[in-house]
Amino acid sequence: MKVFKFGGASVKDAAGVQNVASILQRFKNEPLVIVVSAMGKTTNALEEVVAAHAKQNGQAQALYDALKERHYALMRELFDETDEVFAAVNDVFVEGEWVLDDKPADNYDYMYDQIVCVGELVSTKIVAAYLNKIGLKTHWLDARDVIATDNTWREGWVIWDKTKANAQKVVTPLLEQGGFVLTQGFIGSTSENFTTTLGREGSDYTAAIFSFCLDAESMSIWKDVPGVLNADPRIFDNTIKLDRLSYKEAIEMTYYGAQVIHPKTIKPLQNKNIPLYVKSFLNPDAPGTEISSDTDDTYPPIVVVEKNQALLHISTLDYSFVAEHHMARLFAKAADLRIFVNMMQNGAISFTICVTNVPDRVERFIKDISDEFKVKVEEGLELITIRHYTQETIDNLKKGKIVLFEERIRNTMHMVVKNVPPIERKAVEVAGSKA
Ligand code: ADP
Ligand code: ASP
Ligand code: MG
Repeated sequence: MKVFKFGGASVKDAAGVQNVASILQRFKNEPLVIVVSAMGKTTNALEEVVAAHAKQNGQAQALYDALKERHYALMRELFDETDEVFAAVNDVFVEGEWVLDDKPADNYDYMYDQIVCVGELVSTKIVAAYLNKIGLKTHWLDARDVIATDNTWREGWVIWDKTKANAQKVVTPLLEQGGFVLTQGFIGSTSENFTTTLGREGSDYTAAIFSFCLDAESMSIWKDVPGVLNADPRIFDNTIKLDRLSYKEAIEMTYYGAQVIHPKTIKPLQNKNIPLYVKSFLNPDAPGTEISSDTDDTYPPIVVVEKNQALLHISTLDYSFVAEHHMARLFAKAADLRIFVNMMQNGAISFTICVTNVPDRVERFIKDISDEFKVKVEEGLELITIRHYTQETIDNLKKGKIVLFEERIRNTMHMVVKNVPPIERKAVEVAGSKA
């Protein structure tokens, strides 16, 4: 069997759902597990609902109603008004409303998961119903019956042995009956049957979990780009599509922020040597990118820009050296607050870390260590990672930037920069590549 994943962009409107169906038509009669995300920007809209509900500012219901209406409008383009999908989707929306009818839970992240899951549940109800309507037999599966997690809300940790047993028990018999199995990305369930989410953009990861647990032959993620490019096409012109990438290369890119694939996706696939294809849903015949084990491929420079970074310059209050026991404390605190340390550098009485800037967590970090350390913060920075760098690429990327911190390790270069003046669109100029 194979696993396919369609992201929010692929099902953002009725034409998108029809396009997904036309791709799946080509795989009729093949055993496929299909993972689908929430439609378009639904998850962002649901995050606004959660925030409004938490603040009790009276806007949560109106925001939720607008989202419902967008889904119903899309459904009216695909189905007759009498189709039973309307009732099925309404039932899911009502479950979200129950949460909104209650007063906000003390635990924001718990409440978030119970509301935000609605996006994936409704999108999969709609896509499965549409596939069945056009004669592609499809079983709708609740991913929460398979993906078991702990109760780390918004970042659920997968309980692998349980998830694997569930997948084999639930999914295999459905595939044996014939037809596709279609399920939600991004969501899982705790042992008490509360919903968890796996982290933003987590549907790629869901597909990898199913692939691992069911020993898939391959996994394909269908995107609005021709494949993995050597830089983000929203920031750079003249990007190059990479025909092949090793797992290692893909893990390095995604860890440092290449948004095309969720960073947790690669490991389960690598562990079972399952190839990952990144393909275009706009051009399904094109080969896309294949990610699989190492070969002796050579790569052009690959650039990843991670925005929203902060440098924390941490120094001891009493001029004592920053020793290992200090670092142990700093890292324990960072882990506790789920602060991601992307780079670090130590000096005699200071220690500098580059972190993804989540303001409330960073403020808490600074407060919690203030008995021993003082911290100077620089915000609004970017972390640029270049794999297989050339001097020309580095010089090009440094134009218009102030470099605050840089490091080269073998074929990887990292630099933390700030813009002067802010944001300018540039080409990645790569020696010897097409311009
Ligand atoms: P999905 O709809 O599956 O969630 P995403 O929007 O998360 O898809 O990912 C696809 C987007 O990732 C592309 O539209 C592109 O703008 C962006 N992207 C960032 N870096 C890259 C890269 N190196 N290669 C291809 N796409 C990239
Ligand atoms: N819908 C979720 C999000 O937007 C998960 C995903 O699309 O991968 O983050
Ligand atoms: Mg995504």
